[in-house]
Amino acid sequence: MPHGGVAHRADQMALLAGIVHDRGTDPRYGELLSVIEASSLVADPEGAPAVNVRELRREFDRERKIPRRLVEESARVTALASQAWVEARKRNEFPLFEPWLDRIFALAREEADAVGYAGTRYDAMVEDYEPGMTTERLSALFARLESDLVPLVDALRSEPAPVVAREYPLPRQRAFVKMVAAALGFDFDGGRLDIGQHPFCTSIGPGDVRIGLRYYRRDFTRGFFGLLHEVGHALYDQGLDRTHFGTPMGDAVSLGMHESQSRLWENLVGRSHGFWRHFYPQLQTAFHDALHSVPLDGFLGELNRVAPGLIRVHADEVTYNLHVLIRFELERGLLDGDLRAADLPAAWAERYRRTLGVAPKNDRTGCLQDVHWAEGLIGYFPTYTLGNVYAAQLFEAADRAVGPLDEAFAAGEFRSLREWLGEHVHRHGSRYAAAALVERATGSAPDPGALVKNLTRRYG
Ligand code: ZN
Repeated sequence: MPHGGVAHRADQMALLAGIVHDRGTDPRYGELLSVIEASSLVADPEGAPAVNVRELRREFDRERKIPRRLVEESARVTALASQAWVEARKRNEFPLFEPWLDRIFALAREEADAVGYAGTRYDAMVEDYEPGMTTERLSALFARLESDLVPLVDALRSEPAPVVAREYPLPRQRAFVKMVAAALGFDFDGGRLDIGQHPFCTSIGPGDVRIGLRYYRRDFTRGFFGLLHEVGHALYDQGLDRTHFGTPMGDAVSLGMHESQSRLWENLVGRSHGFWRHFYPQLQTAFHDALHSVPLDGFLGELNRVAPGLIRVHADEVTYNLHVLIRFELERGLLDGDLRAADLPAAWAERYRRTLGVAPKNDRTGCLQDVHWAEGLIGYFPTYTLGNVYAAQLFEAADRAVGPLDEAFAAGEFRSLREWLGEHVHRHGSRYAAAALVERATGSAPDPGALVKNLTRRYG
């Protein structure tokens, strides 16, 4: 879209958001929900009708508290702000984006106050992405991660590896990636693998889950770990109950749970010794020139380096959650008004220096790196860390139940893990809240202990 079309598109987005809001808050819809709630259809609280009505009621009640004017204004401002963010980032000039950031957080504040909250304003935002999660529980979780991970990062701090120039021809990368996706259980009859500008996974409908990937000629791992991440999302979507498509019962329970599936395959499977005992000989054959002289352990060492950096999406597994922690703290300040947009670049740099020991030299590698706030996604970042927390707990439980998984991976066997996840997570859709689902599957409520233990064992 040409730049000149942005303003009109923003008006269209606002109108559409308003129409959708009107439909979703129609009093007649509320009456119909009440009729079902009073009927015997919901006698079994774990049955599909009860689950669906519970979830639709939650959305209806939230939506009803937000005035149409605010819905339209948020849609318009985020459409314009996203464009301003692109421009500011390209020119590396935060001041171009600063007034938009103020407006977005002012609108979010209005939304939170309209929706209401029991504890703090931020609760109202998190609730939209991770129902049932609270700021208080997130704060405790991040505090534990910070106190355990910062010393681990300090102990492992290493200079970034010198870039070894190796060539990985793109057609061979695509063939290798396709072979791995099939081995992990991605159903090509119900999905596609294509090229995209950014890695993504999107579910069009039952039997149509699409992954977009980007490949790099001199960096095999970047494209490959993108694949593993998106396959994790895809296996969840492909494992949902098709007969309930279009209703909460046939939909993922939360963003955190979705991310747990991607992070589990990306990190806990894809960085494991067993996984590469199986795939490394094939990788060496496919990229003989690049890898024939690199032993398995050397390759694994490169995959699992820990080095604090500035960019979240390039962060290693150990430092990643500290990047999220910083965003969690800063966005709470912006939402409450304790932190002004104008002061964000300095606050960002200071927080990075204190936690990771690195500070950005410019806005592009600092507070302009993520698109989330420009799109109005406030309260979204913590779901990344919740994903890592859930993933570690689920993996530990699966290993106990059907493991040792590392041995299975070494034999090229991924079915038992996939089926365990299907049985304990995927098929349930939104039947249980995320925390309850974790507890049923693993025997413990969400807790960062398994993640810390896992990282300490593998890296410490
Ligand atoms: Zn993801």
